[in-house]
Amino acid sequence: MKALIIGAGGVAGVVVAKCCQNSDVFSEIMIASRTIGRCDELKEKNQDKTETKISTAKVDANNVAELVALMNEFQPDICINVALPYQDLTIMDACLEYGVDYLDTANYEPEDTAKFEYKWQWAYKDKFEKAGLTAILGCGFDPGVTGVFSAYALKHYFDEINYIDILDCNGGDHGYPFATNFNPEINIREVSAKGSYWENGEWIETEPMEIKREYDFDQVGVKDMYLLHHEELESLGINMPGIKRIRFFMTFGQSYLTHLKCLENVGMTSIEPIMFEGKEIIPLQFLKAVLPDPASLGPRTVGKTNIGCIYQGKKDGKDVKYYIYNVCDHQEAYKEVGSQAVSYTTGVPAMIGAMMVLKGIWKKPGVFNVEEMDPDPFMEKLNECGLPWIENFNPVLVD
Ligand code: NDP
Repeated sequence: MKALIIGAGGVAGVVVAKCCQNSDVFSEIMIASRTIGRCDELKEKNQDKTETKISTAKVDANNVAELVALMNEFQPDICINVALPYQDLTIMDACLEYGVDYLDTANYEPEDTAKFEYKWQWAYKDKFEKAGLTAILGCGFDPGVTGVFSAYALKHYFDEINYIDILDCNGGDHGYPFATNFNPEINIREVSAKGSYWENGEWIETEPMEIKREYDFDQVGVKDMYLLHHEELESLGINMPGIKRIRFFMTFGQSYLTHLKCLENVGMTSIEPIMFEGKEIIPLQFLKAVLPDPASLGPRTVGKTNIGCIYQGKKDGKDVKYYIYNVCDHQEAYKEVGSQAVSYTTGVPAMIGAMMVLKGIWKKPGVFNVEEMDPDPFMEKLNECGLPWIENFNPVLVD
């Protein structure tokens, strides 16, 4: 079957490599992005190692007509969006116009407002239902695998889940004083925003990085982690019966935080346009241009990521605790596909989600978050495709 992959950055590199490892499902792929040179580089890197036929194209994913023309030419069976969240709606529009299933890894966010919410994409539910097409939202690791883990926990171990803590730990070291592991603009917008968590049907807002905890992560060790707002809180708050509280924590080292604070204090993380030498520029986009490209971190990054969820709830009237997580080694990911673990842990689930849709396992009309789908076949593929999971039925809880 044919997959159209939009974007040619760090995550796309992994999606391409993983599709090429699964040629029985992905017999043909097209890599289409703004800069065709990056698409061609990915083709070059993979084409001698695979049965999958690879083609490339230049496309502006903000332009629906261009996307539809490309779809008419390539005739894909699925469109995998691993460009930026700003392009989600135009790509969904193009999928509807051409008539193809859709999958992404990050929810829509308007370019001029640092706020991500599912409402814009959920508004497409009726249109996808009527067209008989499937749209899978947020199928990276977090969101993505965290939702699949939640559906799996609920299906197998709980009657109701009351508390979820999502813990995202990156114990990797790239050797730079400051760099981001995925798109710097999106990453900095996310971590400099106010934090929030979901409790008893309401959002509780916190100042950025206000809530800090320490956790001892398997195979990584003790790390400081901070509460952030994160998109899966919104969908899990609706899709998990009996839920009382969901929080999301991410680890940051002191050097990262000190640099970020300094950049914020001097105005470099702002998305308000300013005039510079007669030209309007956005400080955060300028910062992105001077920071290391996340795709270049692969060879330099050592250490491991550990991402998972701790659940508390009830089964047959008894209290149950359950922790499920994956540990991914930056260097092993690099050896396998030429990317560090943050891109790897995002790209592998995107490929598996697309495979689920193409095989008809996750195929139903409408717009869905991953926890609304059967988790079992996806969980099996995580083990086979490089992201095995570990269970702990007596975890240390986060206070
Ligand atoms: P990169 O910046 O490395 O790659 C983005 C790609 O999109 C680039 O190739 C870029 O092109 C392309 N692009 C940008 N704008 C357009 C456009 N208008 N038309 C066509 N192509 C365009 O980002 P990452 O690979 O790190 O991240 C990709 C996505 O994955 C993001 O949405 C990110 O939020 C998401 N993500 C999700 C995670 C999860 O766990 N769910 C974790 C990490 C990331 P160019 O080469 O010209 O710049």
